Amino acid sequence: MDRTRLRTLLARESAEAERRNPRSRAAYAGADHLFGRVPMTWMNKTAGAFPRYLAGARGARVSDVDGHEYIDFCLGDTGAMAGHSPAAVTEAVQRRFAEFGGATAMLPTEDAEWVGAELTRRFGLARWSFSLTATDANRWAIRLARAVTGRPKILFNSYCYHGSVDESLIVAGPDGEGSARPGNVGAPCEVTLTSRVAEFNDLAALERELAHGDVAAVLMEPALTNIGIVLPEPGYLAGVRELTRRHGTLLINDETHTFSAGPGGCTGAWDLEPDMLTIGKAIGGGIPAGAYGLSAELADRLLARGDLDLVDMGGVGGTLAGNALSVAATRATLEHVLTDAAFDRMGKLCERFEAGVRAGIEAHTLPWSVSRLGARTEYRFTAPAPRTGTESAAAADADLEDFLHLYLANRGILLTPFHNMALMCPDTTERDVDRHTEVFAAALAELAG
Ligand code: PMP
Repeated sequence: MDRTRLRTLLARESAEAERRNPRSRAAYAGADHLFGRVPMTWMNKTAGAFPRYLAGARGARVSDVDGHEYIDFCLGDTGAMAGHSPAAVTEAVQRRFAEFGGATAMLPTEDAEWVGAELTRRFGLARWSFSLTATDANRWAIRLARAVTGRPKILFNSYCYHGSVDESLIVAGPDGEGSARPGNVGAPCEVTLTSRVAEFNDLAALERELAHGDVAAVLMEPALTNIGIVLPEPGYLAGVRELTRRHGTLLINDETHTFSAGPGGCTGAWDLEPDMLTIGKAIGGGIPAGAYGLSAELADRLLARGDLDLVDMGGVGGTLAGNALSVAATRATLEHVLTDAAFDRMGKLCERFEAGVRAGIEAHTLPWSVSRLGARTEYRFTAPAPRTGTESAAAADADLEDFLHLYLANRGILLTPFHNMALMCPDTTERDVDRHTEVFAAALAELAG
């Protein structure tokens, strides 16, 4: 890669982004009352000097305040995997909120049991409870796992992401020892007091850590999706299940992103048998919603424990969790939008997307790789595809990433910030995918000179 050429191209695309987006640029410059000038600090993770401001979004399309329309492969980093404002969800939300009235009355609705039953059909776990975010689903699952096992620690894969969960901000060093993830903001305590870590795809490291006998649960994605996509090697997930059972450690699958693998995520697609499962983002069709599931046996054991305050201030739950609006949106999403048939179509489209990326990489004999997990695909600047989070982290290239994101955005295509990732929704079309293939090829041709 000619770095000088890359930097010149990046400067050109940054200037083009400024030229094309005066209103976004002005809005950002004027946002004096927002911490970091954005409604959420991570919105500063954008290629270029300012974020594009949202005007509207529908299906697989987003428009900005400068009047540009985008094919959206970001899809709210999975929050909009159902497409933006899908009709069935819009209708259910309107009915719940406007027609019946009431979003948050501290009373259950009958939709919740329908959703619980559907989650059981898809993921296998027998009992469900709701949250508003995947982060909270993970937090509460962790607490329940500690309570039921009486053990203090949770084990994570290095370079995982499970939301802003204190215990998860741990990485493995070269000898496998754990330490705080760089940049960890105001950690409540030294992370090794609460956590252990092992590289993904490394059963020997997992066994070594579990042998301490203090791990309540392994909380993991069945494939890493937040440091590129790192797929499990044959036998790895079966090994994780066998080792966790042998050491009396619970297994929690976080399917928030791996839901892209199919209607039941990787758990359904690969017949996995976690003790608990967490999910958020997409299941609400754009309305905040999350959930965790647990086996009947685990649920019964927890409910029988007189010392655990599961009802009031024991540390599990939130006032708005399970609210009528979120649950209605989740029902509509699962019943009408992210259906088995939709996943089938999205997976096929994603194969087409992946083939387009692979063709671009091969045409320029780049040492890059591309991985796919159902409706989600991501490329990394290394080949063969990384086996661990640490290997994948080492392949990051901020300038290259920024150039590709800006090049695509300036030509009407959005990828996910933080990723070279594309996600398909039920409204994505073959034409959308082919447009990406075309623009991606043009970007590579410019890089090649
Ligand atoms: N789990 C996984 C696997 C995630 O990728 C994320 C967010 N990217 C989360 C949990 C947290 O989701 P949220 O920020 O919506 O709570």
